[in-house]
Amino acid sequence: MATEYDLVILGGGTGGYVAAIRASQLDMKVAIVEKAELGGTCLHRGCIPSKALLRSAEVYQQTMKADSFGVEVNPPTLNFAKVQQRKNGIIDQLHKGVQGLMKKGKIDVYQGFGRILGPSIFSPMPGTVSVEYENGNENDMLLPKNVLIATGSQPNTLSGLDFDGEYVISSNEALEMEELPKSIIIVGGGVIGIEWASMLNDFGVDVTVLEYQQQILPTEDKEIAKEMEKQLKKRGVNILTGANVQPDTLAKDNGVSIEAIAGDKKEHFQADRLLVSVGRKANTQNIGLENTDIQRSNHTIDTNDFYQTKESHIYAIGDVIGGMQLAHVASHEGITAVEHMAGEYTQKLDYRSISSCIYASPEAASVGLTEEQAKEEGFELVIGKFPFQAVGKALVYGETDGFVKIVTDKNTQDVLGVHMIGPQVTDMISEAGLAKVLDATAWEISQTIHPHPSLSEVIGEAALAVDGVQIHG
Ligand code: FAD
Repeated sequence: MATEYDLVILGGGTGGYVAAIRASQLDMKVAIVEKAELGGTCLHRGCIPSKALLRSAEVYQQTMKADSFGVEVNPPTLNFAKVQQRKNGIIDQLHKGVQGLMKKGKIDVYQGFGRILGPSIFSPMPGTVSVEYENGNENDMLLPKNVLIATGSQPNTLSGLDFDGEYVISSNEALEMEELPKSIIIVGGGVIGIEWASMLNDFGVDVTVLEYQQQILPTEDKEIAKEMEKQLKKRGVNILTGANVQPDTLAKDNGVSIEAIAGDKKEHFQADRLLVSVGRKANTQNIGLENTDIQRSNHTIDTNDFYQTKESHIYAIGDVIGGMQLAHVASHEGITAVEHMAGEYTQKLDYRSISSCIYASPEAASVGLTEEQAKEEGFELVIGKFPFQAVGKALVYGETDGFVKIVTDKNTQDVLGVHMIGPQVTDMISEAGLAKVLDATAWEISQTIHPHPSLSEVIGEAALAVDGVQIHG
């Protein structure tokens, strides 16, 4: 016997569970098959736990600097067990929230491993989903009209740098550390690597980042990446770019050591642990893709603009399709896919209007084209830039490093991209996201009167700077 559904979702991460809620709002009978925990990477091994640890690290650092605000405190001490407890408490609370939302939406949750079957006694088309249980319970069979693959991704590594859970770790193990190492080598200076570098440095760990490309944060605007590198180095993070790590030199003996070649120099590095942060690989293994005509490129699933695979009743969204591997991207792809399968009016996502954030200290955030991308696309540019240093609220906060950069098209005045580094920019970037959605010009942003004193004044000033009429600089 197979249970019939309008939609069965493989994976209850941010993409899958949000899609399920939207499907239930559209009166679909919907089930999620989740092999681990609802909330997926973002809630249990990604966004939320990392930001909880980052916040503790930030509070620790701020308390050390309290003196400069006229607040005298004894030197603070770090209780890392409590830091972890706080993080776990936040995850538990949010996990309960997601479970409650599933109940509210009358969404059936199957706690097992989902696999797509080929044509079977249940259906002449591929798409029946079998649910396999760890405890040996008999499989369940689900017969959906549509399937949504939202199985996410897992940490990638370099050949020869296998995760051993002790010396060579991924972000998964790093989040569960019971004690802080004294020193760490981070292989990979992308978003996740840089967040870890910043956080561990704030916690007092001796951090070395080895990045293969010539700049850390290789996908960010060059000026932002340079400023981040400058700020992290100022705080004592050791960063080597253009570093080709040599996995065959890895040695583990009461710590790890490894060599990297940068230019014509070979350098030797030693630390308590080595965190590999070189991207994520899509979870496409064993989910039954071989039973379908679904195509893959570089291991991620190919879809059209509405997330249909080659099998038009099987959709895929989130990290498993690659692209911008972010939680808010996964959930909005899920909403779009579900609306499309329900025959609702829906628009394809404009990825150039979606913000991405780096929760280091300082924070960085961006939306749209970098200066380099805009030039490559042949735009003639006018750029407005304004520093936090000239804004009163930044001085009040004691955080004056960084700037906002607005990249505009000289011919249309449209905003092509906005890039920020400095205090609270991961919250401020939404204004730039709105500007992108509305196809706004820099002049229109400058006509949005920013309250004084506020950090957002730097956006208004950067917009004025596009026409060279900034007030405070
Ligand atoms: P996932 O969240 O990975 O969910 C997939 C789910 O599918 C998992 O629960 C998994 O158990 C389940 N599953 C897999 N295969 C099967 C199967 N066969 N059967 C049943 N279930 C299955 N993004 C941001 O936007 N902001 C951030 O600050 C941020 N920070 C991050 C920090 C770290 C350290 C990491 C690793 C990631 C971070 N991300 C962040 C990225 C974000 O977590 C992912 O983009 C997001 O979780 C992707 O959602 P998803 O639903 O596609 O996949």
